[in-house]
Amino acid sequence: MSDMEHKEPEEKKENGPEEKKKEYEDVCFICRRPESKAGKMFHLPNNICVCDDCMHKTMDAVSQFDYQGMLSNPALFNMLNSQFDKKESQAQVQEEETEDTQEPKQKGFPNISFINLADFANDGIPRKQKIKKKSKEEKVQPIFDIKSIPAPHRIKEQLDQYVIGQEHAKKVISVAVYNHYKRVATGMTDEIEIEKSNILLIGPTGCGKTYLVKTLAKLLNVPLAIADATSLTEAGYIGDDIESVVSKLLAAADNDVDKAEQGIIFIDEIDKIARKRNTTSRDVSGESVQQGMLKLLEGAEVEVPVGANSKNAMVPLATVNTKNILFICGGAFPDLDEIIKERLRKQTSIGFRAELKDKWDKEKDILSRVTVEDIRTFGMIPEFLGRLPVICTLKGLNQEMLVRILKEPKNAILKQYQKLLELDEVKLEFSEDALEAIAKKATEKDTGARALRSIIEEFMLDIMYEIPKDDNIGRVTITGAYIEGTGGPVIDIRSNTYALPDMDKMNTVQE
Ligand code: ADP
Repeated sequence: MSDMEHKEPEEKKENGPEEKKKEYEDVCFICRRPESKAGKMFHLPNNICVCDDCMHKTMDAVSQFDYQGMLSNPALFNMLNSQFDKKESQAQVQEEETEDTQEPKQKGFPNISFINLADFANDGIPRKQKIKKKSKEEKVQPIFDIKSIPAPHRIKEQLDQYVIGQEHAKKVISVAVYNHYKRVATGMTDEIEIEKSNILLIGPTGCGKTYLVKTLAKLLNVPLAIADATSLTEAGYIGDDIESVVSKLLAAADNDVDKAEQGIIFIDEIDKIARKRNTTSRDVSGESVQQGMLKLLEGAEVEVPVGANSKNAMVPLATVNTKNILFICGGAFPDLDEIIKERLRKQTSIGFRAELKDKWDKEKDILSRVTVEDIRTFGMIPEFLGRLPVICTLKGLNQEMLVRILKEPKNAILKQYQKLLELDEVKLEFSEDALEAIAKKATEKDTGARALRSIIEEFMLDIMYEIPKDDNIGRVTITGAYIEGTGGPVIDIRSNTYALPDMDKMNTVQE
């Protein structure tokens, strides 16, 4: 009995690492294709795997190799070999001779060295470049069950907790995402094919485009990759290959192809790949990138490098089908408003509906009047726009919205600082005029909500530095005067209140 008990854990131990190994696919050492594509692998020492094709090709090449015409010229061949023999005997390389008893003719040629395969222990592939095996059980179970996809109003309700304002954008995205995943869940077996609802988000910088997508992916619990269109170039040029965006998603999905195939890819700064005007050279980072993205957006099987930004000989390739990947593109599209105004002016300058020329100059929400035609004029190609059927504009943030962003979201900046100070048992409060002063400063910077953080960091530095010095401090209230630099924060020592005219005097209060 006791023997039996001892054996069990041993068996488990043996199985453990093997099971772990099986999680990842073997990759051919030569063509870098994974097992699922290349078929059965030959396992060589030092964890090197070679696929059937490559093994055959190598064998063929070796048997047919002419050694640069040497075989067809027997005199040269014999001469080289005899010279090589002489050198060998002079050097008295005994070890090699004892190990290898073959004739020197077959030993090799001078100045030709072969790669020592032992140098490539662990097959030379970093872990993040390994592809997870597709398990059959997982394939049967879809990530989304049609009943478990939250309804659009539920998605919007959840988004409301994080993203302030942008009501229209949230509504459009909720519906688009709901439809997209409904399409994924049902599959496309019916006669009626539901088209993909990729989304184009247009809005000024810092208005919450990235934040909206990030929140969405978190709520839906799907992998998300955020890529920057500026770094993309046509394959073969300096920069990232277009397929690298799918590689990023694959990495976000822990190299699990099935999971990645249902994720979201957000491509930021999409306006930067607009067609370059007045160029005579090849537009490798503009129009060509748009062209290259067409097949990704539409849905195709693409070979993507695993764990790298470009395909090269040394990275494994995985095949990902982008049919069910939701693409969201975002960009600020500067000067798009001018294009829209120009179009509107043209429309209304003639005939009975003629209006004053400067009518549209005062229009605040001009971006919401955007049409596909305007974006085309901006420099996006029609085929590209055709694959982004949902166009959605976000508004620039005004002062009132910035105040709300400071305090309302679930993870609002103020709440984060309050939590930090709570750990020191200090209550942090902000007066209304302080919030307004922060928002006013942020609007001046013109970088949307992004400016809020830097402004708060700036004046919270002193507070975060001084507070832990004194255990008696119970509450700090940030006032508008402190933000504007005309006064100090109000410090409450537990049970007593002091109003401070200046931050420097904070230490003297307790005396
Ligand atoms: P962009 O539109 O340039 O992609 P981001 O989404 O990166 O801007 O916004 C920057 C930061 O500003 C976000 O991390 C988020 O904290 C905050 N933010 C922007 N807009 C909103 C919003 N509408 N509601 C809540 N927070 C926002």
